[in-house]
Amino acid sequence: MKQSCEVAIVGSGFAGSLLARLLAVQGYDVVLLERGTHPRFAIGESSTPLANLSLERIGARYGLEDCYQLATHGRWLAHFPDLRRGLKRGFTFYRHHPNEPFASRGYDCERLLVAASPHDSLSDTHWLRADVDHHFVRKAIEAGVEYLDHVNLTSVDFSSAAVTASGVREGNEFALRANFLIDASGPGGFLARQLLIPSGLEQTETRSALVFSHFDGVRLMSDVLPGMPEGPYPDDWAAVHHVIDEGWMYSLRFDDGVTSAGFLLTPRGLASLKLADSSDAASIWYAMLEQYPTIASAFADATPLMPIAFHPGIQHRLTQSTGERWAMMPHAYAFVDPLFSTGIAWSLRAVERLALAFESAAPNQRMPDKDVLARYSAALSAEANQIDRVVAGAYEGMSHFDLFAAQAMLYFAIVSFAEVSQRLKPDDSVAWNGFLGVGDPVLEPLPRESLRRLKEITHSRGATGTSEERRDFVEWIANAIASRNIAGLANPDRKNLYPVDFDELVNKHALLGMSREQILKALPALRGM
Ligand SMILES: Cc1cc2nc3c(=O)[nH]c(=O)nc-3n(C[C@H](O)[C@H](O)[C@H](O)COP(=O)(O)OP(=O)(O)OC[C@H]3O[C@@H](n4cnc5c(N)ncnc54)[C@H](O)[C@@H]3O)c2cc1C
Repeated sequence: MKQSCEVAIVGSGFAGSLLARLLAVQGYDVVLLERGTHPRFAIGESSTPLANLSLERIGARYGLEDCYQLATHGRWLAHFPDLRRGLKRGFTFYRHHPNEPFASRGYDCERLLVAASPHDSLSDTHWLRADVDHHFVRKAIEAGVEYLDHVNLTSVDFSSAAVTASGVREGNEFALRANFLIDASGPGGFLARQLLIPSGLEQTETRSALVFSHFDGVRLMSDVLPGMPEGPYPDDWAAVHHVIDEGWMYSLRFDDGVTSAGFLLTPRGLASLKLADSSDAASIWYAMLEQYPTIASAFADATPLMPIAFHPGIQHRLTQSTGERWAMMPHAYAFVDPLFSTGIAWSLRAVERLALAFESAAPNQRMPDKDVLARYSAALSAEANQIDRVVAGAYEGMSHFDLFAAQAMLYFAIVSFAEVSQRLKPDDSVAWNGFLGVGDPVLEPLPRESLRRLKEITHSRGATGTSEERRDFVEWIANAIASRNIAGLANPDRKNLYPVDFDELVNKHALLGMSREQILKALPALRGM
């Protein structure tokens, strides 16, 4: 084992291994340290168009063909059929009510579908993380990264000249000296514990517990709810969200039939179950199914492929994400909630930013300069707050489907505007654009204001408000996003079924600062033709 290197990276999830590889491609001497081994189970599986745009940019900039191929479902299948994944055409939402089957009222039912891709081959994917993370580790090794698994890091020491990480591997003590250390340990929180970094969780709003597993034999919602009006894509080939009184449930189907599913429960929601043991995963799981007959019907024949697990609080947030000779990946710094699947995209954006930071390092320093690290840290802090506000607003909105659907429009307006802007005007500096509207004078303030308005309606106690209050909120959202709404969102004529609408995009060319002709010229690329 090496005794020194230029960059030590702690944690080999996809973020740590991909960044390790990009630095090795740039000529850095990198060691990647993992406490476990691969393949291993990991949660956080549903990717999005913004995540795939990052992968494509990384693929193009560093000549990594696999990153480009893994950025759409069609290319993934053609080039990496052995890496398990699921087709994700968009975001599907149903609102269920306790002890009532989902009410199939045609176009009037509480169902929202937002397409993220125009057809299957350009679609996003659910990542079977055991396979995907393992792939990225293997690729890092091929690129020259020294990868060490089963490492137990016991201490880290920063001096003005170096950082030294010490630990034990295979019974042998070691000390690794590096120029710079990146903490990609996720909620493992390696540096948070070593440096006693204070928590910043009290500044944040969202609180949820998680009960989850992978399952075989989950029925398709299209079988459970036959006769629903046709949507822009088949309901099940998406990130399926079941919004319930206690929070929400995700259900992510992989192409091989396995489904990743979990309930996210608010503290009030969990307490309302009145279980003898409110930390017993299986009791919580089956209590939830008992409460919601349509979900129970989908899971009637499902068998967990591993024990159902429970985490009482999945949020974490630190007060610092960089320091002298170190930086954290987003998942080590903060996590809010899986709602709207922000994690992979945010992590990949940070991989891009740190790779660029090392690229622009002064030759005699061989590590990011202070200004770039300060920029990185400010971005992460603002973005973590923004994710929290968007998600906290959605939790408030869960009290009534109209409020929830309107808040979802805010999220989709922000990401679709960013996605189309990035696709139409490709540029490496895009990696530094704020995530979720941060830095956009129109979009940045909206999640805060939206959350404030929602709390006024719900009194932060789940009140549904009057029909007038709800109508006002829905109208406010439609007006607030109008100057960024290139996707035809918040349109009542759509009946909550939103396809990818290229005609709308062409009509809204001015919002993107482009002429009709310029957009028309770019359309084949957007359509994947
Ligand atoms: C319940 C849940 C659902 C989610 N769903 C989604 C979703 O649908 N879509 C989405 O985009 N995002 C989702 N996320 C977020 C997503 O999981 C993260 O963005 C993603 O896992 C970040 O990857 P990473 O490589 O940074 O960290 P991780 O995947 O957390 O990997 C960290 C690695 O570090 C290793 N490690 C930890 N401590 C140490 C140590 N001391 N020494 C050495 N190694 C260590 C671990 O073993 C692990 O391999 C979800 C998160 C949660 C909690």
